[in-house]
Formats: sequence, structure tokens, C-alpha cells
Amino acid sequence: MSLTGKTGVLGIFGDPVAHSLSPSMQNRALREAGIDAVYVPFQVPAGELARAVAALPALGIRGVNVTVPHKEAVVALLDEVDPAARRMGAVNTIVNRRGRLVGYNTDGTGFLKALAEDLHFSATDGRILLLGAGGACRAALVSLALAGAAWIGLANRTRARAEALAQEFDGAFADTRIEVLDLSGRALSAPLRQVDLLVNTTAVGLQGEQFDALPWDDLRPAAAVYDMVYRQNGTPLVKEALKRGHRAADGIGMLAGQGEEAFYLWFGQRPPAGMMARWLRQHLAE
Ligand code: NAP
Repeated sequence: MSLTGKTGVLGIFGDPVAHSLSPSMQNRALREAGIDAVYVPFQVPAGELARAVAALPALGIRGVNVTVPHKEAVVALLDEVDPAARRMGAVNTIVNRRGRLVGYNTDGTGFLKALAEDLHFSATDGRILLLGAGGACRAALVSLALAGAAWIGLANRTRARAEALAQEFDGAFADTRIEVLDLSGRALSAPLRQVDLLVNTTAVGLQGEQFDALPWDDLRPAAAVYDMVYRQNGTPLVKEALKRGHRAADGIGMLAGQGEEAFYLWFGQRPPAGMMARWLRQHLAE
């Protein structure tokens, strides 16, 4: 890669940011697409976020991704926020449009894209059980509801957090009923017999651990399983689902999908099809 006076600059704001796979994934995509730009990690402490965002137009930075812990705080610092991102209360992609900073959330679009590509799943009229109630769950809830899901169940270790989420979106989506469930085998048995899709939006599985509370025998045979977690040798949830004959996929597709959507927002063109997911799998295998 050779940098010149014309090379465009993009990046990611996070703290920590050193572990992020986005810089090498995006730089690879830029190279393959033949775009003269570079994507840089910026470690931005919470107290510096406002100054970092304000500097984007002055520095001519074309756009950035925003990750933990800034996705919520950044919303108030932008000139314009996409309606879906506003509903999620979180922005993960900023586009610098001639000095106007516009925020989007591509976690939601990346998630729907992964469901379509990896599981051939469409949310329209679907019944989906989400395990969790954190930021990733919120992005999933809003994107599934905007895509026309009929029913979304929320089951979280801390029930009050799921209740707060359900209450916040109570009546917000005409076509979607949101219901809170206990994260326990007994409470999940009946819903699992009805769902089209089960999604893990929690951190469970990151260390190779399994969901103890899941009554697998009750999961409808036709139901698909999506795990937002990803690991080198596959996640326990995906392995168990596949063993039982369900369609299942891990979070690589979502990570690649959010990167592809951000790339599209910045450049108006898509990276080579499947390149980001392939690169991520190869990187994890190494
Ligand atoms: P978060 O806001 O911190 O929420 C964490 C969630 O995990 C909460 O619901 C929490 O429950 C639950 N949890 C954590 N440990 C648990 C345990 N031992 N048992 C049961 N529940 C547990 O984090 P987030 O931003 O939503 O991210 C959650 C996970 O999603 C991350 O670990 C990440 O791997 C994954 N993710 C993947 C992508 C992707 O592109 N593939 C994107 C975003 C996130 P409590 O409320 O009870 O604490």
C-alpha cells in the first residue's frame, strides 16, 4: 500500500480498539476494490469523544466506525442521524458528507443480511426469540421489527433489563408484538415450539460456554439458530444446533455485513462479494 497526498482516510473510534478486526478487514477491502484510502484505528477515551468527532470535518476524514463504549454517546454529537439508528439509540458508522456528519447503524443491517445470506431467513411475519437485552439485542430488535417481524421474545439473565427494553418499544411497531420471558428452561419451552428463529445476542459462548437453560428438545425442528458470537472453531450454540439438524450460523456474517454496509455508505460501492467474511474466517483460523 502506498500513501500519497491524495489518499483518503477512514477509521474506527473505540476504547479499547487494539483488538478490533475492522482495520485489517476494511484495508483489505479497500485494496481489493482498488480504492486509494486507508482505515486507521483511533483509541478515543470517552472524555475525548466530542473533540474527536468535531475534528472529522477539519481533518477531511471521510468516515469512521464507532465501537464500544461510544455507540450511544456519539448520537448526540452528529448533524443528522438515520431514523433506524435513532430508534436503536446507537450509531456505529459516521459518514462525512462535505462537512456534515451523518450517523447510521450498520449492525442492524449487517444482522439482517447475515440472516438472509447464511440462513435464508427473512424476518417478515417471523417469530423470533432473542436471548439477551444489551446493545446488540437492541439493534436486532429494532431491525427485526422494522423488517416486519410478527413476534419478538426477549429472555435475559437480568429480566428487568429485558422489561425496560420491551417497555421502551411498547406500541412502537404496529406489526410486532414484544414479549418478555424468563431465561429458564421451563419458561422457554412453549415459545421454542413456536419460533422460526432463535438468536443469541449475549456474550455467552465467547469463552466456549453453553447456555445451560436452553431446552433444546423443544426447539421447533424447522427453526434456525443465529449466534452473534463467533470463535475460531465455532460456537457451542451453533455446534449443538447443527448437530440437532437446525440451520445455524455464527456472528462472522454479521460482523462482515456491518463492515460491507459501512463501506457502501462511504463509497457507494460494495466490497467484493463475500470477501470480508472469507477474510475474517481465514484470520480467525490463523
Ligand atoms: P452488552 O450490552 O454488554 O450486553 C451483554 C448481554 O450479555 C446482556 O444481555 C447480558 O445479560 C448478557 N450476558 C453476559 N454474560 C452472560 C452470562 N454469563 N449469562 C447470561 N447472559 C449473559 O453487550 P452487547 O454489545 O449487547 O454484545 C453482546 C455480544 O454480542 C458480544 O459479546 C459480542 O460477541 C456479540 N456481538 C456480535 C456482533 C457481531 O458483529 N457478530 C456485534 C455486536 C455484538 P445481563 O443484562 O444479565 O448482564
